[in-house]
Amino acid sequence: MMDNIWGQACAELEKSVGPNNFNHWIKPLRLTALKDGVAHFASPTRFVSDWVYRHFADDILAQLNKLGPGIDRLRFEVIPQQAPAGARSRATVEAAQQPGAQASSSDPAPVTARATRKAELCAPLDPRFTFGNFVVGKPNELAHAAARRVAEGGPVGFNPLFLYGGVGLGKTHLMHAIAHDYQSRHPSAQVLYLSAEQFMYRFVQALRESTIMDFKGMFRNVNMLMVDDVQFIAGKDSTQEEFFHTFNALVDQGKQIVISADRAPAEIKGLEERIKSRLSCGLIVDLHPTTYELRLGILQSKTETFRKQNPDVRIGDGVLEFLAHRITTNVRVLEGALQRLFAHASLLRREITLEVAQECLADILRTNDRKISIDDIQRKVAEHYNIRLSDMIGPKRSRNVARPRQIAMYLSKQLTSRSLPDIGRRFGGRDHTTIMHGVRKIEELSAGDHGLAEDIGMLKRLLEA
Ligand code: ADP
Ligand code: MG
Repeated sequence: MMDNIWGQACAELEKSVGPNNFNHWIKPLRLTALKDGVAHFASPTRFVSDWVYRHFADDILAQLNKLGPGIDRLRFEVIPQQAPAGARSRATVEAAQQPGAQASSSDPAPVTARATRKAELCAPLDPRFTFGNFVVGKPNELAHAAARRVAEGGPVGFNPLFLYGGVGLGKTHLMHAIAHDYQSRHPSAQVLYLSAEQFMYRFVQALRESTIMDFKGMFRNVNMLMVDDVQFIAGKDSTQEEFFHTFNALVDQGKQIVISADRAPAEIKGLEERIKSRLSCGLIVDLHPTTYELRLGILQSKTETFRKQNPDVRIGDGVLEFLAHRITTNVRVLEGALQRLFAHASLLRREITLEVAQECLADILRTNDRKISIDDIQRKVAEHYNIRLSDMIGPKRSRNVARPRQIAMYLSKQLTSRSLPDIGRRFGGRDHTTIMHGVRKIEELSAGDHGLAEDIGMLKRLLEA
């Protein structure tokens, strides 16, 4: 039963302290007894037990208590493990010098209180979200490079690093990758990753339970703080206030902060100016909507991973290209589609041909098609350029109307699967050659006009959101 409890606690600890820390410090421990609120451990050396006591006591207590035994203290006994013959004598000496070495706290209560806080604060990291599994392409290369730099933890960092972009473009993936990488380079560093929603929830809870000092202390003591989806705290005044103070305290101490949001700081409504301006002091990088090439790259990389689990599955020619072409909104959906194909193929033991893929993914393909209508595009573009919706389909030819109309044509071609004649009909019965001309014109212009390219990028993002 004790092995069982420790086994379960270890599984959680590995997640909460990171695999490196876990293997180095916690794995060598053996739980020998749980008695009168004390967990007794055998540790191979005094050094290990001291280290664990100083750095991971909170985590261990929290995990044990989650499993129920009501433990409020840890006690370590140095018992050298079956060391190889040469090392043995040294280990024994060490043990003899510290007979029954104990590293128990004189005042166990605060340790327990803090332990619960920390375990609750940190959100688990997904082991699959590593740099190794992140496919780099034009739309995310800058964000990726910045993330790498921050993960190195050297003096030439950016503080804070602010990552933003639409849903499913890899923000969370990059943040977890930073945490994994940084933690493996700095095993004793404290990395705290959580969503802005969790931050608020914990903050409110700390207020309610009058443990606000613990809460503050916990955050002020980390080496790296990562807050995901920070747009969530917009309009939530006291949470913002607390966040601002935490933020300042950490930046002033030179601790790294990484933040993500679904849009740029300036565009987050209801976020205090002083926070916006502090956020802007670091590096702000956006993840652009995926390109066909990036989607294909991601599909190829995921296919390799899936193949390792299902070596028999065959994927027909053109299937990945088809998916990359048709599922354009979000990498999560793309990944889900591929996963479904693999499940399908391995159950039915059939090759995934183009037809099989179309049939198996009919619902996903349909919603991706339905997602953006020409109406939506016309409305958004008219709104953006401040022209009347009726001018989209009307005959006016002045530049201030004609250009936005061409942009809408271009976006209709790009974002929907409508044919040119079809699009022409929706633009007041124009001929398909007019549409083609409009599309070409915008392609040409945006290649040389950075402002226009950016406008189009933003419109796309708005439409695809
Ligand atoms: P966000 O936080 O921006 O909404 P996520 O980071 O959760 O998006 O990404 C959604 C899914 O897509 C995850 O499973 C992630 O691994 C995957 N993903 C996104 N971008 C990439 C990429 N460039 N390479 C590999 N996987 C990616
Ligand atoms: Mg996310």
